[in-house]
Amino acid sequence: MIIDSIENGIVIDHICAGKGMELYNVLNLERLTCPVALLKNVSSLRRSGKKDIIKIDELINIDWDILGYIDPSCTVNIIKNGKVFEKKLLELPEKIINVIKCNNPRCITSVELSIPQVFKLTEKESGVYRCAYCETKANTTKKQP
Ligand code: ZN
Repeated sequence: MIIDSIENGIVIDHICAGKGMELYNVLNLERLTCPVALLKNVSSLRRSGKKDIIKIDELINIDWDILGYIDPSCTVNIIKNGKVFEKKLLELPEKIINVIKCNNPRCITSVELSIPQVFKLTEKESGVYRCAYCETKANTTKKQP
């Protein structure tokens, strides 16, 4: 694949430097058989500093909620026939399922492993997620872009 020319695929741009690998793993891009490029520490014009970029040479289904949770400031370009078909702006999802675990040992999800791990965005400004069952705050607090 020539890095800059994708006929049909997805480009995830403006990923916080260092988060590209995390996204790669969470989106399970390893399973793909098409060319995938992870570019790290690319100079960013929009932000001071560096960014990561992921290019996927195929139109695959991506869980936008997971993407928005990991890095709400990244931008997504859907490429069709060599042109940008759609630009997606991400935001923190209202709800995330099976992405993070509740750390309350008495939470039902810690006891009943068959129950999905559901977290809800309870404070949008500060990006706080709480367990949907016991309301324990998630470990990671997300920053809005
Ligand atoms: Zn819980």
